Amino acid sequence: MIAEPLVQVPCPSCGADVPTRVAHEGALGIARCGVCRLLYVTPRLAHPQAHYHGEREAVLRKYGPILRGEQGHNRDPNYEQELAVLRRYKPRGRLLDVGTHCGFFLRKARGMDWELTGVEPSPIGAQLAREFYGLDVKTATLQGAQFPNGCFDLVTMVDVFEHVGEPNEVLGEVRRVLREDGLLFVKVPNGRYNLFKYRLFRRGLGLRQVEIFDAKEHVVHYTAETLRRVLEGGGFQIRFAFVPRPIQDGAWWKRALRSVAYRLAQAQRALGGGFGELATDIAVVAAKAPDHGTLPANRSSAATRRNGELV
Ligand SMILES: [Zn+2]
Repeated sequence: MIAEPLVQVPCPSCGADVPTRVAHEGALGIARCGVCRLLYVTPRLAHPQAHYHGEREAVLRKYGPILRGEQGHNRDPNYEQELAVLRRYKPRGRLLDVGTHCGFFLRKARGMDWELTGVEPSPIGAQLAREFYGLDVKTATLQGAQFPNGCFDLVTMVDVFEHVGEPNEVLGEVRRVLREDGLLFVKVPNGRYNLFKYRLFRRGLGLRQVEIFDAKEHVVHYTAETLRRVLEGGGFQIRFAFVPRPIQDGAWWKRALRSVAYRLAQAQRALGGGFGELATDIAVVAAKAPDHGTLPANRSSAATRRNGELV
């Protein structure tokens, strides 16, 4: 039961308001935009990221052993895979991690050849990242941080872009703070995987209470196609895309199923297929498109509409 206020929103990418509902979690709807095909949540919570601003004690109860180094994070194998890819494409320079949370990803990047900076809107997350890991993390949104033009070589958004309700604005700001030869790394859950799981669980197995989409906080659900379109609309060209390892948690059989799905998804992609239903997530390294005009911070509906009609 959701007691928080809900809002109906237009497509976060193209601004059109012609959604078709494809799934729901309680009162929250997952819809496909009739213009650009983006999967997004509407109605959604009015403040979908509010719980990140919770109590310090609650965060410490959950993450204390990891912050104190007494145990690893279940996402460490994911972070290691992602950092290995990033070292191939941009082995040194200034790295900005957007949505740093408590610094779990950045802590794994320490000791490599990057100068690390994070930006995190939750004061508690940013504070814990500074306190426990000595990281340089600014308490702000990316747009609020006001970094100088072209001051980073690499911007990372690891399990973050799906939380962003204004992807065009964020990408515009990423372009601005990146050097001309800078790279953007984005990793998001695969919307096709979640839709597949939703249909399997709810329709196939009749499990109606299972939450697949994390729709309370994940406000956009990208597929490989819509992620590419949104990135291209924001002035980026994908240089490399890969099926990331699944994030592992839960019962042994869930882990085993995800491992099998991962191997099959890798094989499918190696054979020339895309990111089908078996890839839990999508990861891309993107470069700035050289001929992309400078966009105003708030794109007009006409401009975003044009972007949508490129589809
Ligand atoms: Zn749209």
